[in-house]
Amino acid sequence: TGNTPASPWDELPVRDELRGKSPYGAPQLDVPVRLNTNENPYPLPEPLVERIAERVREAARGLNRYPDRDAVELRTRLAEYLTKTSGHPLGLENVWAANGSNEVIQQLLQTFGGPNRTAIGFEPSYSMHGLIARGTGTGWLSGPRNEDFTIDVAAAEQAIAAHRPDVVFITSPNNPTGTAVPPETVLALYEAAQAAKPSMVVVDEAYIEFSHGDSLLPLLDGRPHLVVSRTMSKAFGAAGLRLGYLAAHPAVVDAVQLVRLPYHLSAVTQATALAALEHTDTLLGYVEELKSERDRLVAELRALGYEVTESDANFVQFGRFADAHEVWRKILDRGVLVRDNGVPGWLRVTAGTPQENDAFLDAVRDLKKEQS
Ligand code: PMP
Repeated sequence: TGNTPASPWDELPVRDELRGKSPYGAPQLDVPVRLNTNENPYPLPEPLVERIAERVREAARGLNRYPDRDAVELRTRLAEYLTKTSGHPLGLENVWAANGSNEVIQQLLQTFGGPNRTAIGFEPSYSMHGLIARGTGTGWLSGPRNEDFTIDVAAAEQAIAAHRPDVVFITSPNNPTGTAVPPETVLALYEAAQAAKPSMVVVDEAYIEFSHGDSLLPLLDGRPHLVVSRTMSKAFGAAGLRLGYLAAHPAVVDAVQLVRLPYHLSAVTQATALAALEHTDTLLGYVEELKSERDRLVAELRALGYEVTESDANFVQFGRFADAHEVWRKILDRGVLVRDNGVPGWLRVTAGTPQENDAFLDAVRDLKKEQS
């Protein structure tokens, strides 16, 4: 290969499947309006900040000891939150928590995927499912979607029957499209997955609190191979906390114990999450505001003549563009950072505060003028 000197990277004996790949990387740029990573734009309310300080101070007094390895109090409170909001009774034994739902997904793939096993997702969807699969040595299969970004059930059933994946990912509402998945679709894919293997079906509900519809949690009843994953990063406005969790049959919670690192959830994390859960009602109030801002973005983008995908999340996919990346850049030139997820023709904007959304709408209005 000629005279090019080998770089230290080339010499590193990294695993073959990681060679030449790029890490997950939404640009973290310093611009006035950042609507690119589906964060909640509202800082935590001051009384909650005070409560976190109190609970963390208390936890600090015990930091010479390892934290509660089983996070019993936290899992109990999370189970109560899920029960209250879904009407589906769940207990401590149904819930597991980790550092972000990314870690939950990693633990699931370490437990149910791995070398000589495969996982499938229906793309475009959350790219970390495939990346975490790669990191855990799990083969990745990309299933198709319909033109309107709903899951093509017949094609999905066929892919599951043909490839017999060990893990099936269903993201509802889906990222980056915002598409909610109806329970009938989840049931059909669950049946197909059981007939083929049986395999685990993971429903990623990171954005469910923003949905017009209901959580799929009630489907857990009588389906021991179904897992619902959740996060405090979006609706709870706590992306910096790193707290994700899952609900499933108690046997699934037992199984992930085999791969979780001992004491993976720090005492500080547990204390902070518990404080946030005490303020659930206030935090869910912000969710209502964001839902109406999301609906306003959909309506105004359509009024401007853009195509918009139906959204049940705190973000909106809009297009279509001959060159989405160039449009992304032009919006950035106007001080607003949105996301180019690499879906040809489409961009994604996160619902921010009313002022941030106005700034975004001004930017795209300006673009329309430039074109006409
Ligand atoms: N699932 C989906 C669909 C997401 O979009 C995200 C975050 N962008 C996550 C999971 C991970 O979130 P976290 O690790 O912050 O819980």
